[in-house]
Amino acid sequence: MLLDLSEVLACPVCGPPQIMVAVVHESEGRRVARGFLGCPACDGRFRIDSGVVRLLSATAPSPEPAESDSFSLPSGVEETAVLVGAVLDLAGESGCVLLGPGLAGIAGSLAAIAGRSEVVSFTHAAPHPPVAAPNLSTIVVSGDGPLPVLEGRFRAAALCGEPGEARIREVAAALRPPGRLAILAPAPGAAHAMRDAGLHVVAADERVAVASKSP
Ligand SMILES: [Zn+2]
Repeated sequence: MLLDLSEVLACPVCGPPQIMVAVVHESEGRRVARGFLGCPACDGRFRIDSGVVRLLSATAPSPEPAESDSFSLPSGVEETAVLVGAVLDLAGESGCVLLGPGLAGIAGSLAAIAGRSEVVSFTHAAPHPPVAAPNLSTIVVSGDGPLPVLEGRFRAAALCGEPGEARIREVAAALRPPGRLAILAPAPGAAHAMRDAGLHVVAADERVAVASKSP
């Protein structure tokens, strides 16, 4: 996990805007291999092992929900990563890119083309074997509930399928203008939900819907 991610993640128990503090036990440069994120408000501690953060609320019965986290991509992994990289305009500028649950399969490929951006992959199950890339952070989150992210911190985001209106609103809030949101293989109402979330839809077909956040 990139050390600076403590500036974009919220406590999964308290929710945003509650921030957390990284306690590092082992690191390589600015990447935390082992340690934890601690919440000063609820005293929650969230483990970082082999660079993977587990942001599960204490009420979650098992550390790793059994449900799988694979979304059937509209095309191959590489092709999908290239499509996402292009519609989100990831070349060039640095910043954090939010990858929603279901898209962990393209995280490594997207990181490879994301240049100076950090890909932050939220998943329900840590990938085995772990995917290593110099600009990829994997965050394991509970199956339900909001993503533990702070508002206005991500330069771009990608979701898939039918994320639901609540998830679209939450990710729209996490974007920093003029950040873009892409939804892969969008459900029919996706573009409408993006507009309702205050985004400007720039493209929408059966492969991907893309919207940007106005300053
Ligand atoms: Zn907390």
